[in-house]
Amino acid sequence: MTRQCYRLAQYQLNIALSDGHWSADEVQVMEGNYFGKPSAVILDLDETVLDNSAYNARNIVDQQPYDLESWNAWCAEEKATIIPGAADFIKAAVALGVKVMFVTNRRDEVKTATINNLKKFGINANDDNVLTRNDDQGRGGDKVSRRGMVAKDYRILLLIGDNLSDICSEVEIPDNKLRNETANRKADFLGTRWIILPNPVYGSWERALPKEPKAALRVDRETQSSLGR
Ligand SMILES: [Mg+2]
Repeated sequence: MTRQCYRLAQYQLNIALSDGHWSADEVQVMEGNYFGKPSAVILDLDETVLDNSAYNARNIVDQQPYDLESWNAWCAEEKATIIPGAADFIKAAVALGVKVMFVTNRRDEVKTATINNLKKFGINANDDNVLTRNDDQGRGGDKVSRRGMVAKDYRILLLIGDNLSDICSEVEIPDNKLRNETANRKADFLGTRWIILPNPVYGSWERALPKEPKAALRVDRETQSSLGR
């Protein structure tokens, strides 16, 4: 599935390059000040470029939930693997003269480790193209400010992530109805300027789950077993 997403991204990138009015960033589109700027694509990192299945598996074995401390420790190990298709897409974008920017909610503390991890897959990551999160310095988790930093100098051709908040604002809402309305309102960009990869493990949708997800899950399992699944 991820290879399909990246193949589509590569196809769309060529279309974007030939259309000077094309931008994937909704703020940039609104402001309309991107004509003639050099081209860039923005990719999220976790579960978009880097595969952290091992961290999640470890948490399951240890019966621990996600927390920032264990997450940072995992990032510092530099052991994430690569999402299939990501390295080829990045290589193709670079060959087309497109600047590749990474906007990640990994924190500043693990920036160097993250760069090292990316380099293991031949990705030219450095201090300038990896934009980590630091709430105190105005680089918040919603990623809007960091997309704005890229938009200042570049025309953003594609936004690639595994979470709707990787590509647009107004989706960090713990309300399924509002989230769906937002997604539907922007449906034209999905699969054209915005590429979303599947993430089977987590996402901001979790906050919109029922208040007692364990109870909901139990009911679902009972339903499934009564259906003989
Ligand atoms: Mg991600």
